[in-house]
Amino acid sequence: MSLIVQKFGGTSVADAEKIRTAARRAIRAQQAGNQVVMVVSAMGKNTDLLVDLAGQVCQGGGEPPAREMDMLLSTGEQVSVALMAMAIDDLGAKAVSLTGGQIGIKTDSSHTKARIRSISTDRVRKLLDDGYIVIACGFQGIDDDLNITTLGRGGSDTSAVALAAVLGASRCEIYTDVDGVFTTDPRLVAEARKMDRVSHDEMLELASLGAGVMHSRSIEFGKKFSVPIHVKNSAVFTDEAGTVIGPESESADRPVSGAALTRDEARLTVRHVPDLPGTSHAIFSRLASENVTVDMIVQNPGAGGTADISFTIPEGDLKQALEALQATVDQLGGGEVSYDADVAKVSIVGLGMATQSGVADRMFRALAEEDINITAITTSEIKVSVLVDRHRMTEALRAVHREFELDKPPHERASFGEPAAPAMVADAADVVDRLQHMEELTIHGVELDPSQARVSLIDVADTPGIAAEVFEAVASEGVLVDMIVQSVGEQGHTNLSFTVPQGDVERTITTVKRLMDKLGGSVSGTNHIAILTVTGIGIRSHTGVGTRMFEALHEANINVDVISTSEVRVNVAVDAKKGEAGLTALKKAFADVIEQ
Ligand code: ADP
Ligand code: ASP
Ligand code: MG
Repeated sequence: MSLIVQKFGGTSVADAEKIRTAARRAIRAQQAGNQVVMVVSAMGKNTDLLVDLAGQVCQGGGEPPAREMDMLLSTGEQVSVALMAMAIDDLGAKAVSLTGGQIGIKTDSSHTKARIRSISTDRVRKLLDDGYIVIACGFQGIDDDLNITTLGRGGSDTSAVALAAVLGASRCEIYTDVDGVFTTDPRLVAEARKMDRVSHDEMLELASLGAGVMHSRSIEFGKKFSVPIHVKNSAVFTDEAGTVIGPESESADRPVSGAALTRDEARLTVRHVPDLPGTSHAIFSRLASENVTVDMIVQNPGAGGTADISFTIPEGDLKQALEALQATVDQLGGGEVSYDADVAKVSIVGLGMATQSGVADRMFRALAEEDINITAITTSEIKVSVLVDRHRMTEALRAVHREFELDKPPHERASFGEPAAPAMVADAADVVDRLQHMEELTIHGVELDPSQARVSLIDVADTPGIAAEVFEAVASEGVLVDMIVQSVGEQGHTNLSFTVPQGDVERTITTVKRLMDKLGGSVSGTNHIAILTVTGIGIRSHTGVGTRMFEALHEANINVDVISTSEVRVNVAVDAKKGEAGLTALKKAFADVIEQ
């Protein structure tokens, strides 16, 4: 008998009628011969209301104690599961509601952002075998001391996919208030199109770059345990296909599959810090110890042996991050700290980008045509992110959506084989063993690419269209650009660095020099650099990865030249002569988590 997990988000259980509708859906699935586990979120906006109440009783300016926050927030889901069980009972089927603790969803003790360590299956299995629909509270677990924990906002998706993984479910259905995963948020861009499929890696990037439809950690489970995830609209009753999140991308030929927006970002910049091994490590380890998640790290060589480092953080962490940064800069003996709290990040994501050139410059051109200035850029194999003024963010998102014609279905659909096999439960002990490490960092490998060169444009005029101009010129020479990073330069200026194959560096420099009369600034090139890459799952959500990397390189006395990060990889460019040593240092640093 197959087992399915059905997860219902807040809007899908917002009132009594919706709860009964969800209950009927689960009963139908059971009557069709499946065992059914439901994972349910708090009703409507209940979690927000609880957060608000906590704020009201804590007027001293401090945060409420995280443990009590979890105690409070977990009640939202408890209300829903009880009501759902009553509805099912009323409709004539058997149901039991269980809290995270009752199921045995064990987590670590980091309240409000706990990670799952293990899930026991005995109780759920017994109930399913006895003909019950099991209704599990999403978003919550317990730690070793039986304290209630929560997984972070939106975490019910993660509870659902994790349960599906451990139970070997044939699929995990996510019922929400839209028809599936769209090319971008359909509430912001009316032309957004529902995708039939999206690959794990694309969804991971999209979710962590702002596509709130899925909790990004749920995709890590989906990928690690091969759980087919179907995202569907809970208000649709025909057997609508929704979106399948699995190994394959929707299109065989498109460079870009989707676009996403992160609204509340703040950008921090330190200029003129000593360009020495250990500088990045000092800065980022301090921020990690303050639990500030850092993104879009861009490091550019500055003037006279100094470096400029910019990065983004969630705006809510700004005060804390500024204090930590200033303290580190004082310790390092120099550097100017500045920030911009009014920025948003617009990103494009697509597996096809890894093999096609001329993608980034199309994005830059589309923004330039709307006269939208880009203040920072980072790229990785399958995404390009830019930072823009927050008041232009929706226009920017629409412009890139239009440029890549995401509203139109792909010409050439990827051919899909049979759906991936569900996680197997043949050997329960093996599954439980794997689950012990369920949400731990998984590193696939550390690689060295010694074939690249770096080109840097220092202090060019910071006006809309710069990036478009530069990368169109480079692309017209047929040069394949890999990492691109842009950061803030001297007043009204910007720095751009990017990597190209070594054989193309002279040609690239000649090409960009031609533009410099117009743009101002200077060009420099390093004929030979080494790029070190760490790939895996959960690279960004585990804030320690960057720290570990910088620490290892610092210990090996290796200076980091350029950095770029994504959900599945971190790239750093270092001196070519230090490539091998860097590889050895990183392999050692990650030895305990590298998958065999
Ligand atoms: P639930 O309560 O069901 O978990 P969420 O509010 O967490 O629902 O997620 C659904 C919302 O995600 C949609 O209403 C939509 O506005 C937003 N969203 C953002 N990006 C996307 C996207 N790419 N595709 C679909 N929905 C998206
Ligand atoms: N109720 C929780 C929240 O609103 C978890 C979830 O809905 O996924 O964040
Ligand atoms: Mg959600």
